[in-house]
Amino acid sequence: MGKPTGFLEYQRLSEAYEPVAERLKKYKEFVLRLSDEQAAVQGARCMDCGIPFCNNGCPVNNIIPDWNDLVYRNQWKEAIEVLHSTNNFPEFTGRICPAPCEAACTLNINSDAVGIKSIEHAIIDKAWEEGWVQPRPAAAKTGKKVAVVGSGPAGLAAAQQLARVGHDVTVFEKNTRIGGLLRYGIPDFKMEKGLIDRRMAQMEAEGVRFRTGVIVGSDTAAPGIANDAKEFVSAEALQKEFDAVILAAGSEVPRDLPVPGRELGGVHFALEFLIPQNKAVAGDGPNPISAEGKHVVVIGGGDTGSDCVGTSNRHGAASVTQFELMPMPPEQENKALTWPYWPIKMRTSSSHEEGCERDFAVATKEFFGKDGKVTGLKAVRLEWKDGRMSEIAGSEFEVKADLVFFAMGFTNPLGKLLESFGVEKDARGNAKATTDGAGCYATSAPKVFAAGDVRRGQSLVVWAIREGRQCAREVDQFLMGETVLPR
Ligand SMILES: Cc1cc2nc3c(=O)[nH]c(=O)nc-3n(C[C@H](O)[C@H](O)[C@H](O)COP(=O)(O)OP(=O)(O)OC[C@H]3O[C@@H](n4cnc5c(N)ncnc54)[C@H](O)[C@@H]3O)c2cc1C
Ligand code: SF4
Repeated sequence: MGKPTGFLEYQRLSEAYEPVAERLKKYKEFVLRLSDEQAAVQGARCMDCGIPFCNNGCPVNNIIPDWNDLVYRNQWKEAIEVLHSTNNFPEFTGRICPAPCEAACTLNINSDAVGIKSIEHAIIDKAWEEGWVQPRPAAAKTGKKVAVVGSGPAGLAAAQQLARVGHDVTVFEKNTRIGGLLRYGIPDFKMEKGLIDRRMAQMEAEGVRFRTGVIVGSDTAAPGIANDAKEFVSAEALQKEFDAVILAAGSEVPRDLPVPGRELGGVHFALEFLIPQNKAVAGDGPNPISAEGKHVVVIGGGDTGSDCVGTSNRHGAASVTQFELMPMPPEQENKALTWPYWPIKMRTSSSHEEGCERDFAVATKEFFGKDGKVTGLKAVRLEWKDGRMSEIAGSEFEVKADLVFFAMGFTNPLGKLLESFGVEKDARGNAKATTDGAGCYATSAPKVFAAGDVRRGQSLVVWAIREGRQCAREVDQFLMGETVLPR
């Protein structure tokens, strides 16, 4: 345990942000990592609880109390060893994880949680700087070949785990660069993309092969879905060439809002705006959609909506409004009822702080426009009772809008990919596979496994890493009859 009296002596110290005016000028990260000394003080606040609820609240089950203690004792190299034992990519989660671990921290019951995520961020960034993160190639090769379809966090975690136990792993990605939504969904101001390139180089040194611009299973993606592929590989070819296939293709079909006026110019899915923006920041061509001087309406809350808000403000939008269907949540949760679980409460993201009008319990009824371009929308206020919504008569209103972004989530993966492998789907259209017991992560198709959003539906990076790691263990077990990989 860090310091037995640390939680009484020290306050939570959150990472500082650059001022809004500064960060709006650029697409770079603006969160200032804790100094070694500040991180050690945060580590000292950890009570090393008999039952570490944080460890259970973290989807990859990071061994949080151990690395809190090591940071407090200035044993950073040991801290990254412990952190890497459960998480392949702490530099991703240390930046963009919503930190369910902190909701589960015992200190969160009647005080402020330990700044777990900020310590994770400090450990991994220091480890890279010190040169402690090196390739870990397998001691011996197994001669088994594994194909991973999709290079998001699930595919990358699975590929790294399998390469490290000696399998020949090839990652197929339809887009130009690897990373999935880490690369093309999440903006640079939340996570700079050099972090993915650095991991990719490490994985290549461990023997992972990346084939980008290659679409698997179906030679076309559905409209609205990013596809840079110049090459097509059929499911049969992959099944013939490889001893196992992991589908880690994400959940890419966006939820639409088919109301009158949907076809007007200026009404877009969020990723039609965010993907070209990430490409523009990478120098891969301009974003054809500009929010400069425009009245922007973002429909839907969550991370995707926030990212549209932050990007629009960086473009210099005239105004940004965000609609949410659900009622405004409480400022503070009732911890007696919610702890140690993830509570529903008002969450204000850094993008909201940069300028955004938020309106809750609102349904969009219609878009209207001029010369084929959207100029506004009609909406109505909602009343929520016993989990059911109804429109409030006479509450209709209009809002000016030159650009509208749909950020209402993703419904399912591309059906054609699953069908091409003959993979059975669940009721929501995701790849059907369990996560517990014998044969978990295996789909109905022989030697085909599934992990991440393609299996669980749209989720979080940390869950994708967990599924990638666990799936890799099952694939290793399937190929070798035994495994040393952790769950
Ligand atoms: C805008 C946005 C912001 C987000 N912000 C956060 C956040 O702040 N924190 C957080 O934890 N989560 C966030 N998420 C969610 C998170 O990004 C996803 O849950 C996570 O990336 C899922 O990982 P995955 O590996 O399962 O799939 P993905 O990251 O979706 O990767 C799947 C990959 O498979 C490729 N692919 C699909 N089909 C084929 C095919 N047939 N052939 C070849 N390649 C194929 C795709 O091109 C893609 O690169 C965000 C999501 C979005 C959209
Ligand atoms: S991965 Fe997320 S939940 Fe786990 S320790 Fe890090 S911030 Fe917390």
